[in-house]
Amino acid sequence: MIIDPLGRRFKNLRVSLTAACNYACTYCVPDGKKLQALSAELSEAELIYAVRLLIDAGGVDKLRITGGEPLISKKFDALLGSLRDLSLKDIAITTNGQFLKKKLPVILDAQVSRINVSLDTLDASAFRSIARSGDLATVLEGIEEALAANLKVKVNCVPIRTSNIDELLPILEYCLDRNIELRYIELMNMGHLKHNQLYEQEFIGMDEILDKIGRKYEYYKIDAPIDSTSLRFEIPDYGRFGIIANESEPFCRTCTRLRLSSNGQIFGCLSNSKAFSIRQLLDKPYPIAITELQSILKSAMQLKQRLAFTGETTVMKFIGG
Ligand code: SAM
Repeated sequence: MIIDPLGRRFKNLRVSLTAACNYACTYCVPDGKKLQALSAELSEAELIYAVRLLIDAGGVDKLRITGGEPLISKKFDALLGSLRDLSLKDIAITTNGQFLKKKLPVILDAQVSRINVSLDTLDASAFRSIARSGDLATVLEGIEEALAANLKVKVNCVPIRTSNIDELLPILEYCLDRNIELRYIELMNMGHLKHNQLYEQEFIGMDEILDKIGRKYEYYKIDAPIDSTSLRFEIPDYGRFGIIANESEPFCRTCTRLRLSSNGQIFGCLSNSKAFSIRQLLDKPYPIAITELQSILKSAMQLKQRLAFTGETTVMKFIGG
């Protein structure tokens, strides 16, 4: 077990398959530039070995595959296939959904427990303005097909004052109608937002989100697992939703996550650009690699914030959102 001095145990691994993305969301990358793959990304074999080592060295039971956009990575199918032999309790994927329909057979064939689809608006033109790419109808079709195949789907929505403030209730209702648990994610002070007043201008906090919902629906707070990033709420007779309130109610104190970036670095915290490379371990035999990795993981756990996210210039897609 890898535990830090505050008693936080590493049990939750996020793997960024690639830093590349087919979107260029305004709040994630500046100037409409799609983020390219890192030149030094791990090969398919290295990635699969790295994930296996991390799971074994840490006693990990939850894995999330993210990016960049994981579904555009050539390594996606092979990584999913490799997870079958590992005893993971929970495998999840975060995707923008553009290729969900195409990749659904691979996802269903693997032991994926659930997917989170990022969806910031139901308005096709607002969608193009935020993502600066992609097609809303294709994402919605992918969600319908995933639901029809009985895959558990959640939707992630980042409220942004000038882009989707009027969409927050329609998205909630879209999700409630389909028994999807929506997660509003408070805008994080990352990447180009970090030294920019845009962050304060665009940020919409939990109280404001709840106020909007409360004008139409009664809701109450329900329990969430101790290491959950999300606060959860129930609207009686309609369903549930959550808020990842990294600013309003930080959850660093109970964070159990470490992140593997697509170029083989372990990040302890989204608010810390310091990372430890594990590339040099990937040529070593399993027992040696495991021992060395455990010591790296202990160091990575020390990078966590004690209480609250403090912002970071690293782009979320490099670390794996
Ligand atoms: N491409 C995939 C997707 O779109 O879901 C996975 C990677 S993306 C970085 C993961 C999540 O991070 C998305 O839900 C996205 O909205 C969110 N995200 C990116 N930048 C953010 C920021 N500054 N604050 C809050 N959430 C952010």
